[in-house]
Amino acid sequence: MEPTENQRKDFSKALRNFPRNHLLLAAGLGVCLGGLLALFPSENVTAKRHSVPLTLSLPTVELTPLPAAPETAPLQEATPAEWKTLTVRSGDNLSLLFQRAGLDHADVHEFISSGKDAKALTRLFPGHQLAFLIDEQGDLQQLRHVINPLDSKLYHRTQDGFVAEDSSREPDTHLAYREARITSSLYMAAKSPDIGLDDATVDQLATIFGWDIDFGLDIRKGDSFKVLFEEQFLDGEKIGNGNILAAEFTNQGRSVQAVRYEHEDGSIHYYTPEGKSMRKEFLQTPLNFRYISSNFNPNRLHPIHKTVRPHRGTDYAADRGTPVWSAGDGKVIEAGYSRANGNYVFIQHGADVVTRYLHLHNKHVKKGDRVRQKQVIGTVGSTGYATGPHLHYEFLMNGVHRNPRTIISKLPQAKSIAGAEMLRFSQQISPLLAQLDEFHQATQLALAGSGDSNVQ
Ligand SMILES: [Zn+2]
Repeated sequence: MEPTENQRKDFSKALRNFPRNHLLLAAGLGVCLGGLLALFPSENVTAKRHSVPLTLSLPTVELTPLPAAPETAPLQEATPAEWKTLTVRSGDNLSLLFQRAGLDHADVHEFISSGKDAKALTRLFPGHQLAFLIDEQGDLQQLRHVINPLDSKLYHRTQDGFVAEDSSREPDTHLAYREARITSSLYMAAKSPDIGLDDATVDQLATIFGWDIDFGLDIRKGDSFKVLFEEQFLDGEKIGNGNILAAEFTNQGRSVQAVRYEHEDGSIHYYTPEGKSMRKEFLQTPLNFRYISSNFNPNRLHPIHKTVRPHRGTDYAADRGTPVWSAGDGKVIEAGYSRANGNYVFIQHGADVVTRYLHLHNKHVKKGDRVRQKQVIGTVGSTGYATGPHLHYEFLMNGVHRNPRTIISKLPQAKSIAGAEMLRFSQQISPLLAQLDEFHQATQLALAGSGDSNVQ
């Protein structure tokens, strides 16, 4: 969007009437508008009082009024004030970040002691960004703490120290839909260029169906999924995906549909269209499927005993250090070490079920601990009789080894939608399921039109 000559004139005229700092930043904007806006999303939601009255359709940028520049100050002689943006890394603190920005201890001290707002800048986490606006004298004028694309805090210098202004923005949400047929793994299918789901959405999908399907070991060529989800945009730019609203997974010929439902109290769970909870007492897979190597053959000769031993558990090959989850709520009844098992953890769930986790690199729990489903109880390792890092997982019911893949879906489920809530439930979910189907139909039509019969 190159401004026309007239717009340029209006722009310069408008600039001449700006306070100095506006002018500096505006000059910077002219140079690197795109980059700057990508880093510092405009704040037209909460920063109305600072909005800039340009005739160009520039997004507004939050600015601090400073004494006006002399009327005659020519634009080209202004030094653009430079924002310096740093990403918080693990182990960082405010002093280190100030140093990296070219400021010193005195600046840190001045900032922190300038008011209670500034003192609050202690909750820094890796991935956050700090952007510093430093003037020609080397003084910090503004500091922006970007928590994520939607939430940031701007500290600006006033006579009474640095004052913070929160800004949170609402993304525009659009519905999106993808469907894919799996040829090797869910992850590969979801990440293929046509489908392009992000990791967070893949993880959501695996979580929703994680009580029914072992995404590490159950997936077969020809399995497929459909997913209706939210895409979030800010100023026309996609910033990420939101919630999955409805999805269907077909595994080895069996299809399961799940739909997102918000209860009256605001809690959110996924249910089948009949109102049965997707959540079960036990996870199918006690670790994130994304870390499971697919080329693992659990029936190979035992590397130490050189025999095919009766194998009464499931082996998941994964990198050393991969977090291992408790398959369900329960209590740790054993956490120890033996020559064969290496580091191991046994968990009792209710009266009937015990789960066992062997060859752990580290244990994160001890005997007697209560654990929740999906709590990290240790990490994958190769301690004991194991040639490579893997998790050996056992599921016992009344002392008998059972295959979790056939038994879990038969166990009592978490609560279903109560009869009295059924009307509300179906009113909320029907449009979502209808949309899942409409998108699917439209995709089929499009594929038929393009002569591609890959997906059916
Ligand atoms: Zn094993």
